[in-house]
Amino acid sequence: MDALASFIESWSGGPLRLNLLLRVCQYFCHAVYNHSMAKTTLDKLIILADAAKYDASCASSGGARRDSRDQKGIGSSGGMGICHSYAPDGRCISLLKLLLTNWCTFDCLYCVNRQSSNVERARFTVEEVVNLTLDFYKRNVIEGLFLSSGIIQTPDYTMEQLIEVARQLREEDHFRGYIHLKTIPNASADLIARAGLHADRLSINVELPTEEALIRLAPEKDAAAIALSMERIRRQSDESREDQKAERKIKVMAGGKPKRKVAQFAPAGQSTQMIIGADDSSDRSILTKSAALYRNFRLRRVYYSAFSPIPHASAALPSVGAPLMREHRLYQADWLLRFYGFEEQELVTDNGMLSLAVDPKMAWALAHPEYFPVDINRAAKEMLLRVPGLGVQSVTRLLAARRVRRMRKADVERLGAPTQKVLAFVQLPDHRPAQDAAQRLLLPVPSARNTSPQQGDLFQASAP
Ligand code: SF4
Repeated sequence: MDALASFIESWSGGPLRLNLLLRVCQYFCHAVYNHSMAKTTLDKLIILADAAKYDASCASSGGARRDSRDQKGIGSSGGMGICHSYAPDGRCISLLKLLLTNWCTFDCLYCVNRQSSNVERARFTVEEVVNLTLDFYKRNVIEGLFLSSGIIQTPDYTMEQLIEVARQLREEDHFRGYIHLKTIPNASADLIARAGLHADRLSINVELPTEEALIRLAPEKDAAAIALSMERIRRQSDESREDQKAERKIKVMAGGKPKRKVAQFAPAGQSTQMIIGADDSSDRSILTKSAALYRNFRLRRVYYSAFSPIPHASAALPSVGAPLMREHRLYQADWLLRFYGFEEQELVTDNGMLSLAVDPKMAWALAHPEYFPVDINRAAKEMLLRVPGLGVQSVTRLLAARRVRRMRKADVERLGAPTQKVLAFVQLPDHRPAQDAAQRLLLPVPSARNTSPQQGDLFQASAP
């Protein structure tokens, strides 16, 4: 080694010149690297919009209504959706979305952007994202921005970059469209507080239903840190709501407008995403996790994303994706938990899974014939909500109508709900369902298309 060093020294003319030579080499390598990495904004857009498509947690519902009718800004947050992108399996999974960068220091096995993945990398500057958002917005292509990022340098540094995009859009360009920022796990409390001042919605992905699965598939992520970030968002939202209430009280007492308008913290609340089928968690544990998240952190939505195999996937992952029907059933069950008074253990079968063949509400009704038929004129709201085919709105209308008259079959037919389905589970003064009415709903409907097509005879019609 010493001999090699002295050879280089003598060849290069001493330690000083060697040092200089090394610096030149370093500069040259850096220049070559940078040149090879030089990408146009369009190149970056192609890479980073594609990299973001696996994140499904980006519906634009629930934001504060803002518009620019006062001519002091641009855009409005009204309307649904921003832009759509499609997963490789054909699902339309997203509205507006970009990654600031797909470089990442973490190595989550299920993620196409993980450190060990050999995908092409790119990174937007803050100004590029701001300009792209404004350009698309002015052309009416999008209604807002969903911005996430791989983790570069440190979680705080990455979070600061995301916040800076939102700050510039809001404070410098007076952008009033919808902004959804992904919160970086482990980002500091102060950064989360700043993010919520500019973003309509914040989200942080729990990624997997159990801590064991997270340790196995995303070892650098920390379930406790994710929960802490969610807790911080919830606390900030609560405080902001309290401030607003106090402000409204002052307004009422003073009989006028409050002098200071309190900025609402992330008015569209927080959401999260869980990947389904990357580990062997049952639907029961997924729904239990969701129920706890809704309860503890007052999430607006838990999004379920069926695992679809990614390029160059780790051998620790399944080689086939989870069925999309499973994702669909989880969304249905999630809805039943939140708005229909069901408990997660009521919805799953003995093996802990939801039925793929029928929706969870129908599956529950078929498994509990003792509760049916339900008397529409006497049943409590909670029981009416459990009747397959009756939604929250239909039940509200039924309850209002039956206060003034006895409901009959024709009233149910006028509800706009799927009549055959409802009538199989309810009784009315002029209707009682047949014993097997519910079972018959599951029989395949004979269709004219099922008869095999017949080729007509070209000459038959003209034959004498
Ligand atoms: S931290 Fe996010 S971007 Fe990075 S590997 Fe994990 S999931 Fe992918």
